[in-house]
This record gives sequence, C-alpha cells and structure tokens, in this order.
Amino acid sequence: MTRAEEMDWETAAAAFAWQFDLGATEAICDGPVNRYELEVVVPKAAPVVAAPAVAAEVDPVAEARALAAAAQDLDGLREAMAGFSLCELKQGAKNTVFSDGRAGARVMIIGEAPGRDEDAAGRPFVGRAGQLLDRMFAAIGLSREAPGLEQAIYVTNVMPWRPPQNRDPDAREIAMMKPFLARHVELAQPEVLVVVGNCSADAVLGQRGITRLRGKWGEGLGLPVMPMCHPAYLLRNPAAKREAWADLLEVRARL
Ligand code: URA
Repeated sequence: MTRAEEMDWETAAAAFAWQFDLGATEAICDGPVNRYELEVVVPKAAPVVAAPAVAAEVDPVAEARALAAAAQDLDGLREAMAGFSLCELKQGAKNTVFSDGRAGARVMIIGEAPGRDEDAAGRPFVGRAGQLLDRMFAAIGLSREAPGLEQAIYVTNVMPWRPPQNRDPDAREIAMMKPFLARHVELAQPEVLVVVGNCSADAVLGQRGITRLRGKWGEGLGLPVMPMCHPAYLLRNPAAKREAWADLLEVRARL
C-alpha cells in the first residue's frame, strides 16, 4: 500500500473516506503502526517433558510357557493357571475349571471350555454333555470314579474359563492356554488322549474339521490322539452316536 506521506492531500482524503465507509471510524492508537517493522517475538518452546515410560509389552504365550514350565505337579499347575490373568476370559468366569477324574489314568479326555454348569461347579463336564460323556466311557468300562487307574479317565478342557455366551475360544486364547495344556498332559501322564470337538482338535492336533478327523488316530503333545465328536454335538445329532461308538471301541482296543 502507498505510504500516507507519499500521497497528495486529495488522495489521502479519498482513502480516509473509503476506510470510513468501510466502518473504520475509530482511531485506536496515537499514530500508525507498521507491523512489518515490529520485532517478532517468538514464544519460547515449552520444555520437552519425557514421555511416560510405556510398560514393556507382555507376550502372553511366553508368560504362559514360563509359568507352566515352573509347575512341578498338578496342584502347582492348577495354582499357576488360576493366577494367570492375561487371558480376558478369566474376568467373566466364576471359577477356574481345572480337571476331574483320576490323574494318572491311562485315558485323558480333553474338552473345549466350561459351560454355565461347569463354571458354577468348578468341574469340567458336569452338565448334560458331561453326563453323556460319562455314559459313553462307562460303555467301554471307564469312569472318573473308578478306584483303579486301569479303569479310570481323567478329564480337562483346553480353556479353564467359560467364554461369554459359550462362544468358541478364539485362536489367540487357545494359543496362550496351550502351554498349560501341554504341561497338564506331561504331569498327568496318560497313555492316550481323546480330544472332543474342534477347539480341542485344534489345540492338540493343530487341525479342525472334527467330523472328518474323528475315528482316526493322530499324534499330538507326544501321544496318540483319538479325535471324537463333542458330546454336545451328539446330543443335537443322535445319528452321529453310532460313529462315536466305533471311536470308543478304537480307544478300548488301544488300551
Ligand atoms: N463342554 C466342554 O467342552 N467342556 C466342558 O467342561 C463342558 C462342556
């Protein structure tokens, strides 16, 4: 803009009238301020505050492995699992459901996860599916209450906590509980494993598709594994009981 002192009187008066028309009707300083010549004051930068230290990320699988390896016996393992809080399923559960039956039995049955009845009782397979499981194994002369280890079964689940709405445990949850399951098998020392349902087949054999896998011996956690349909599935599909009977006879023949 042209500086005021370089204008003639008429031009300056016209510029003033134009500003007046725009509404600049009040003088706010004694004289004009050339803002291009003002000293620029740069505000001081705020002191740099060190970011709070972020807690080192915990690897739940590594943590589970360390805890499981440190357990010297089944009671120690039960305690270690009950104290493991990196699996969110624990927050919604009433109980840590560890096992039932006779530790040291030749057959160890691995289910999926506790349902409502198991969560309330703190024992695996006590609801309708559990009662069917007991009848199935009784048919080949095995039971949780057998006085001798020869006729006994030992029962556990991949997941010791009931998932909300009985949903399937997801891959991450299975992975973080698998070290506990592996140690459980080592400490219980069965001769064969029976996995019932997809989640257990996944955890022990690394495979899903139980209706395809069932009835054929596989290998997992260092032992022979018989995959079978879950008793809850058999309750919904009674026609599949016939195949389950054949699978039970396979187990019987192996012992
Ligand atoms: N289904 C399972 O897989 N486990 C239980 O303990 C009960 C139902």
